[in-house]
Amino acid sequence: MSLYLGLERSKFAPNLQPLVPKARLEHDRGVGKDRVQGGNWYLGSLSPLISLSIFLPQAAIEEEGVMLEAIFCTHKHWDHSGGNEALCQKHSSCRVYGSALDAIPRLTNPLTDREKVTVGCLTFEALATPGHTVGHMVYVLDGGPFGSPPCLFSGDLLFLAGCGRPFEGSPETMLASLDVAVSLGEDTLLWPGHEYALECLTFASLLELDNSALEQKLQWAVQQRQEKRSTCPSTLGEEQAYNPFLRTHRPELQEALGLWQAGGEDPDAFRARVLKEVRRRKDLYQAT
Ligand SMILES: [Zn+2]
Repeated sequence: MSLYLGLERSKFAPNLQPLVPKARLEHDRGVGKDRVQGGNWYLGSLSPLISLSIFLPQAAIEEEGVMLEAIFCTHKHWDHSGGNEALCQKHSSCRVYGSALDAIPRLTNPLTDREKVTVGCLTFEALATPGHTVGHMVYVLDGGPFGSPPCLFSGDLLFLAGCGRPFEGSPETMLASLDVAVSLGEDTLLWPGHEYALECLTFASLLELDNSALEQKLQWAVQQRQEKRSTCPSTLGEEQAYNPFLRTHRPELQEALGLWQAGGEDPDAFRARVLKEVRRRKDLYQAT
């Protein structure tokens, strides 16, 4: 039988929670801090774990008795694509999807913006979200047929309370890509490429001192991580309440940063300026 790794396991109904214990299980096996990303990887063989080692994905493939049909690669960085080569060697019919603008190893099926791909009973839409890399793509799984909200596999575009570094794009480009994510709707489940929730929420709480949604999410995340649980998924609705990279339009954040829109300044240009400042402060925070 030919099944799509990970996603098939969930049966996809009514939501993706059954996958979270799986991520926790992998973490409890003592695989290490980064392995909690298994929650992400396991959902769609999207990347991070695949790249760190092929052994965990390969073990899961064997455990499930499935064939690896497809890898949806968000971008070229080694921690998201470094396992493609070895996995494709083991699974010669496996297709690798992604943008031709990124040098994705073993890319077989280049995708363009808004292109849809069906694998088994699952339909994904690829969205071009440049900024972190020039060919960064995110994938949106249509949950409709399963009575589930859509799922956004955001790679390094968007994390819980955070955002990837704009290595290959301007703040304006990154802002436009983040707006694409936000446009997916508040109930969309966010499955990011890294488990950075604690660090990102802590940083955000230093920017916005009086944000109760942020405070609550931080307390919850501390608890989750103490218990070695994944913090994914959140929803895009939640993210807009505490993720500073999605709150560039909010006066309370602008004020906290000491930024004001200049007379005649284009609103998006101003938001890009706010985004740039949040990024600058986050980089400084991480450097300390
Ligand atoms: Zn990256």
